[in-house]
Amino acid sequence: SAKKLGGAQFQFYAQDMNLRTLDRLKLEAALRHAVERDEFELHYQPQLDMASGVIDGVEALVRWRRPGHGLVPPAEFIPVAEETGLIIPLGDWVLRAACAQQAAWRDAGLGDLRMAVNLSARQFKQQDLAQSVVQALHDTGCAAGRLELEITESVLMEHPDAATLVMEQLSDMGVKLSIDDFGSGYSSLAYLKRFPIHSLKIDRSFVHDISCDEDDAAIASAIIALAHSMKLNVIAEGVETGQQLAFLRREGCDHVQGYYFSRPLPAAELALLLARPPGQLP
Ligand code: C2E
Ligand code: MG
Ligand code: MG
Ligand code: MG
Repeated sequence: SAKKLGGAQFQFYAQDMNLRTLDRLKLEAALRHAVERDEFELHYQPQLDMASGVIDGVEALVRWRRPGHGLVPPAEFIPVAEETGLIIPLGDWVLRAACAQQAAWRDAGLGDLRMAVNLSARQFKQQDLAQSVVQALHDTGCAAGRLELEITESVLMEHPDAATLVMEQLSDMGVKLSIDDFGSGYSSLAYLKRFPIHSLKIDRSFVHDISCDEDDAAIASAIIALAHSMKLNVIAEGVETGQQLAFLRREGCDHVQGYYFSRPLPAAELALLLARPPGQLP
């Protein structure tokens, strides 16, 4: 009967829900121990200076080497870490590991690179964020001026006044700030002017269709012009083709990052790239 059928469907649905809830609980529990068990690692993706073709910075991107699951990408655990608050210890680990790596490459003569680190909303709202950053820089020997913190528009615009305060503390220390995924969210240009930011990062979605979609090309050009009129550095992420690179060069984009040059790499592999004689951009 229809009633029976409905019951069966409900049962399937409930089982499915239980499975998902169970997976989620397992994920949370595993994540809770992952920091203590040292299961995270950073991969680094080069950022190239358009004028010289030299790698002058890297973005640190976290991965989780979860036992039995292989290498887990951040999209699968950062949101959960954010919801549970685990992002605080995890974010602190990322910050310290990235700063330590910056200093290690510098000391090895591989370059005094700019180290970009992503900050989540929850980390950014921490009262003592500036203090954690001071501590990480002090403990690792990374210079404040070499650290760049990436924050998304939505995080900034949610509490613009609190954000201004934290950013001023960081900026006064010499730490650079950049707006990640710029153009994908909502930004008030008035606030943009007020924040002590150093660079805008053009969202990958605009870069993707830059050479075939007129609107995306126009948006990318506008972001570059906007950044320059505000004396900000501008970097394009997600550069995958020579055409995209050519477009960005024509428009005067300052930095580029993307699979066209390199995927994010473990530190040892990135060191090999850094040790190569500086090549010209393709
Ligand atoms: P994001 O900060 O916008 O980082 C750029 C993402 O684009 C990275 O993905 C990178 O691997 C990917 N990407 C770079 N070049 C290309 C390209 O040419 N084509 C394509 N299709 N993708 C490219 P990933 O590593 O999976 O990280 C995803 C997001 O996870 C990051 O986006 C960031 O929001 C977050 N995330 C990563 N590491 C951390 C972290 O340590 N802390 C926090 N809070 N978030 C992080
Ligand atoms: Mg980023
Ligand atoms: Mg981004
Ligand atoms: Mg992104």
